[in-house]
Amino acid sequence: MKNFQEILHTITTDIKAISNRGTVASYIPELAHVDPTKFGIHLLDISQNNYSTGNANEAFSIQSISKVFSVSQAFSILGDTLWERVDVEPSGDPFNHLSLLEQENGIPRNPFINAGAIVIADVLYTHLKNPKEDFLAYVRNMANDNTINYDEKIALSEKNTGYRNYAAANLIKSYGNLKNDVNDVLDFYFLQCSLKMSCKQLTNAFFLFINRGKCTQGKTFLNVNQIKRINAIMLTCGFYNEAGEFAFEVGLPGKSGVGGGIIALLPNKFCVATWSPGLNERGNSKLGMLALEKLTTATGLSIF
Ligand code: GLN
Repeated sequence: MKNFQEILHTITTDIKAISNRGTVASYIPELAHVDPTKFGIHLLDISQNNYSTGNANEAFSIQSISKVFSVSQAFSILGDTLWERVDVEPSGDPFNHLSLLEQENGIPRNPFINAGAIVIADVLYTHLKNPKEDFLAYVRNMANDNTINYDEKIALSEKNTGYRNYAAANLIKSYGNLKNDVNDVLDFYFLQCSLKMSCKQLTNAFFLFINRGKCTQGKTFLNVNQIKRINAIMLTCGFYNEAGEFAFEVGLPGKSGVGGGIIALLPNKFCVATWSPGLNERGNSKLGMLALEKLTTATGLSIF
């Protein structure tokens, strides 16, 4: 096998030559300004070697990738009772759909669709003393990086146009599965999604998911069985109605965001982040997915 750096370099050259890069998300107006030609990959292996190409050090809006951090924090606070509030089944629906919510009495299918992440935000809002500060501190600790921050402009932009999320939160509230005020929970949820991180920072934060719950500094955030569960939800639900396709093409647990980022990981081996802002019709980064397919095909490394 060629080394990771050579493989990433070849992938990046191939990807740069592709002209159809997908469509940058514009339903959050502030995201629409991003340059669609940006592309980066960063890979961190279990021995903490770093491999990087393209715009891997540039921070972007991680959006739904933040849902892995929030469910992790909620799981570490509540333990298994968390799953009484949100299920762990793939939905087969787009990330912002509401129909199953009504059929299933306000219990969202999983913590990665928006409805599920809003319930998780409600849990954190209840249990964290200062939700905004404490959640940011949790992510900074995971990544061992105090430069990570929210982008309040993006959060505000989403607040002004987040009609579907207001609809979801109100529906959940009507079933009694949202304990706090809808506006408070959504303000926190939008802020959580507005986190800006680079591919490199994402791999640092996700190291614990390949390292049995211990971060790069050796501190334990989740136990081995909790890591098993979060990684399983990433595999089955991380890409919404494209989770099957991602498993088929890439073969790794992972999570996408509408900012064009993807994190994917192979336990005990490596975690890798890609950034390409153009999305496919399912809201996942078009070229990020392709890059990861090329990576697992070239290396022969996947969970399968
Ligand atoms: N904040 C975004 C939303 O709620 C997150 C969606 C995503 O990244 N898939 O719509």
